[in-house]
Amino acid sequence: MANPRPSDLSDLRRRLHALAEVSGREETTAAFVAEALASLQPDELLTGLGGHGVAAVFSGPGSGPTVMLRAELDALPIPETLDIDHASFSPGVAHKCGHDGHMAILLGTAERLAARPPACGRCVLVFQPAEETGQGAAALLADPRFGALKPDWIFALHNLPGHPEGAILLREGAFAAGSAGVTIRLTGRTSHAAYPEQGRSPDRAVARLILDLINLPDRQRDPGRLALVTIVHTRIGERSFGITPGEAEVLATVRSDDDEVMAELMEGAKLAASAAAADHGLACSVSFSEEFPVTWNDPAAVRIVARAAGDLGLPVIEPRESPFRWSEDFGHLAALGRGAMIGLGAGEEHPVLHAPDFDFNDALLPVGVGLLEEIIQELIRPPR
Ligand SMILES: [Zn+2]
Ligand SMILES: [Zn+2]
Repeated sequence: MANPRPSDLSDLRRRLHALAEVSGREETTAAFVAEALASLQPDELLTGLGGHGVAAVFSGPGSGPTVMLRAELDALPIPETLDIDHASFSPGVAHKCGHDGHMAILLGTAERLAARPPACGRCVLVFQPAEETGQGAAALLADPRFGALKPDWIFALHNLPGHPEGAILLREGAFAAGSAGVTIRLTGRTSHAAYPEQGRSPDRAVARLILDLINLPDRQRDPGRLALVTIVHTRIGERSFGITPGEAEVLATVRSDDDEVMAELMEGAKLAASAAAADHGLACSVSFSEEFPVTWNDPAAVRIVARAAGDLGLPVIEPRESPFRWSEDFGHLAALGRGAMIGLGAGEEHPVLHAPDFDFNDALLPVGVGLLEEIIQELIRPPR
């Protein structure tokens, strides 16, 4: 896979699709992206950022703001079921969120910047690792080399099936929900299944806890805010008919469009777990993982995107779902400057994200490159 060049974007996108690697293991993908960027001779090329992250900096001679654009390197642990020439080489792993397309769009934007560098300020193109697990953006922020890049403006786009192809979906304020995974472990004592009274089974505590967790959103004070708890997994004891279980696990995901409500739901889950454990004489531990903050769109950044889309004649629509219930770890990065997450309609009938039959819609590649270039134009290039 030598000499990747950004010129043919759909070919590039398909080669990235074939490379699919899961979060945190994006070594080959990062090397491919770094090689493609190196061929464009950016002013700076950083690799190994927060894991396998890559950033290219294109600087202008004059002083001006720093505009950061972000794409994601990772694929998902979902098998490729499509019979396509560019099918994933990795068993059980495929680009089912379209991050291959987002990378190709950013590489296309890099090519435009190489041909016509900014007149002032600088543009930083970031390819972040581990978006799907919510760890990559935080890892970037913990890397001092990334910290030195300090953007004034930051944008990311995501393809969105179920919306008109090529439409730009925008909203000020909460764009995508925050979420967190909750893992609750309950420990009692096993006994013979014939003598459950001799052990301490977590069965009743689990039954009560599931209901308490599902009902947590009903206790939220502001009904206008999104509050959602989804039970994702439970397990009690072992698959053995002779043993009264001595331990259990309950996993749930909490979501909200408000960081305060998120904190309340997380605290509520903790309290529900310790109350159920205490009432049934069990030990209990609660941990949180895959924490995504609410993705918050700055009004000024949204106006820039809307203007760029308007100049290109692209339809701008406000999504009906308010905000999107899924989460994005771009929320961590958006807080670095004035930021906006941009939705790019992938077609109303296009297979949904994370579905086995999803493949990125290549028709979006030129739309994405055009939009990002126009945003850069708005912010760091003087009028032609
Ligand atoms: Zn995804
Ligand atoms: Zn994604």
